[in-house]
Order: sequence, then C-alpha cells, then structure tokens
Amino acid sequence: MIFKLPVCPHCGTAYQYNEIKQMKDGIEYCYHCKKKFRIRKKVNILLFIAAVCFLLICADLFVMVWSPSVNIVAMAASNFVVIAAAWLLRFFSVRFIPEKITKSEKKRIKEANEKIHKDKK
Ligand SMILES: [Zn+2]
Repeated sequence: MIFKLPVCPHCGTAYQYNEIKQMKDGIEYCYHCKKKFRIRKKVNILLFIAAVCFLLICADLFVMVWSPSVNIVAMAASNFVVIAAAWLLRFFSVRFIPEKITKSEKKRIKEANEKIHKDKK
C-alpha cells in the first residue's frame, strides 16, 4: 500500500507527517519501543516520483494514439497537476526497515533509560 505513512516495524507506532518530513535517511530509534530501524526516504521518494512520471507518459501516449486531436496544453496542465499531487504525497512513500540491535546498543539504551528515570526522581 503506497498511501500510508510509515510506522515503526517493531511496535507499529505511527509517525506524524511533520516528523517524517524532518527525518533523514539512516538509523532511527523508535521513541516508543526504543528499537532500531532504518529510514528509507530518498530512494523511495525518487522511485515514487519516477513511477508517477512513467505512468503519466504511458497515459499521455495512450491519449495521443487514441485521440490525436487532444489539446496539448490541457494535457500538459493535467500532467503538472498529477506531478504536483505526487510531490505533496511524497512522504507517504517513506518506509522504515527493521534493524537488529547489537548487545552493546541494547545496554546503552537501557542505561540511557535508567538515567532518564533517575533524573525524573
Ligand atoms: Zn517502535
């Protein structure tokens, strides 16, 4: 399913649109379950836009073959609208890939959590 914002692959926590917007490719720790996942953003957005462009070209060719009298300006305008919509929806193509946590990282996360609890007291 393309039109769904990414969720944590471990616990299913949903991330906000604005959070995803600010995220960069790389490793992230879920704020809910503290588990690790890799953000796949750049490549997914690129593939998503490329797929939309490819479908548009196919649609344009189809229209041109079946109705050669089509208004080119109207067609270009509708293409632009589709690309603009795809651009607005680009963060919906971002995905989180689960990553394994090493033992030393587990320890570090545990220590960090304990520190947070201590600070609260
Ligand atoms: Zn999680």
